[in-house]
Amino acid sequence: MRALRTGRIRAACVAGVAAAALALPLVGAEATQDAAPPAALTGEWLSGDLHVHTCYSHDAYCPPDDYNTTEEDFYTLSGTVEERFIEASVRGLDYVAITDHHSQGNPAESGARSVNDPGFGTHGVIGVPGYENSISGHAQMLGAARVYPWTSADAGTPAGLAGVNAMADELRGDGGVFQANHPADGIDHELTACDDTGSLDWGYGYGVRVDSVEVWNIGHYLQPPAPGNSPSKDALTYWECWLNTGAHVAATGGSDSHWLSTALVQGPGNPTTWVFAGERTARGVLRAIREGRTSISVQSPAAGATRLLLEGDSDGDGDFESMIGDTVPSGTAMRVRATGAPGSGLVEVLANGTVLRDEAPLTPGGAVTFTAPNRAGWVYARLLAPESVETRREICDQQVGDQTTYCRAPVGVLAMTSAMYLGEVPPPGVPEVPSVLFMPLTMLVTVAGAVAIRRRRNRAGQLDNGSTTSTC
Ligand SMILES: [Zn+2]
Ligand SMILES: [Zn+2]
Repeated sequence: MRALRTGRIRAACVAGVAAAALALPLVGAEATQDAAPPAALTGEWLSGDLHVHTCYSHDAYCPPDDYNTTEEDFYTLSGTVEERFIEASVRGLDYVAITDHHSQGNPAESGARSVNDPGFGTHGVIGVPGYENSISGHAQMLGAARVYPWTSADAGTPAGLAGVNAMADELRGDGGVFQANHPADGIDHELTACDDTGSLDWGYGYGVRVDSVEVWNIGHYLQPPAPGNSPSKDALTYWECWLNTGAHVAATGGSDSHWLSTALVQGPGNPTTWVFAGERTARGVLRAIREGRTSISVQSPAAGATRLLLEGDSDGDGDFESMIGDTVPSGTAMRVRATGAPGSGLVEVLANGTVLRDEAPLTPGGAVTFTAPNRAGWVYARLLAPESVETRREICDQQVGDQTTYCRAPVGVLAMTSAMYLGEVPPPGVPEVPSVLFMPLTMLVTVAGAVAIRRRRNRAGQLDNGSTTSTC
């Protein structure tokens, strides 16, 4: 765990240097103006899964008339849209997003076909439309009830960045959410610096604005080398790098569930993403993600999910009225607590790239309290099971090598929150991502890096080369 923290600090430092060079709002800078306390919101926490596949995906087989998968891929036996909603229902989920694969120009791909399936949104579970878009990496088009075409998706060109940004903006205009899925899929080394984006599967660095990052794909205990291919640890670092830029980006989880054979350990709800929604609709779910009001649990509600909460007493009156996604004054008193079972574990609080609280015991019904840093930035929390990761790392790397994240990453992650933000509250009408300064300059950096490295896998070509990894 020590090396992981070093990596985080280093990542933050690199981002700070980059931000200074780009005249970005510096996370490490002292806050110049404290935030006004946010008004308490009304709503409820809804549980769900933002990443579930069905028979409509090319790597999911449903006999006898599957149009884009054959019996040769029998091991990919999957479920229909209705079967997925039944699964979600029995796991206690409130919503599920069906996100089958889509690759522009490939007639075997399905796009948002599931939204018109009679099984969509059945069995008391809210259906969130969407599809998983193969560009330079996999973009989750949450809320998409149709296909959104792009003019260019080439991460190595300004036109590619502009094309994907335009597509994402069009989705947002319709109320959708644009998300980077499993950004570290297939990464060949630990991500320790924010500008080291050339090894990521997500090809756009920080040049394409995202509303959310899937920091938790499948489960931490199913990381590379098998059966998953996308280390959540590095995805988490990538998300933190986004926060370092000053952007407000939600953290989400996704089971990426494809196959019935693996449904027990990565079925809908493994992990579960909680959203604090003002209404029990797909629109409410999507808005909550855009507002950053998410929390992730390793288990579904039916299996005893622990929902981790991060709250702040931003006006100092003793009530913790501020919540995940809010911007509060730096130096605010905060607490971490949990609901659900068992509601206990070891709390880790991360702030601006450093560990603020480490392995603080959280007992059922209790809380871990702390004071936020006295400067602008971000804070989030994780709930861990005791697992001696530091000892495991020292022993395991020598025996197995560093090819597996089992040796060096926490696998006993029970839950985590999205961030709360410290410092200034953006005035109304000003985008949270400082697009005027931020986007063109970072686009240049990203394009230069992408052109120099060009190590992207052609995800759009997966259907032809027969890839059937469960992590896509
Ligand atoms: Zn994928
Ligand atoms: Zn997927």
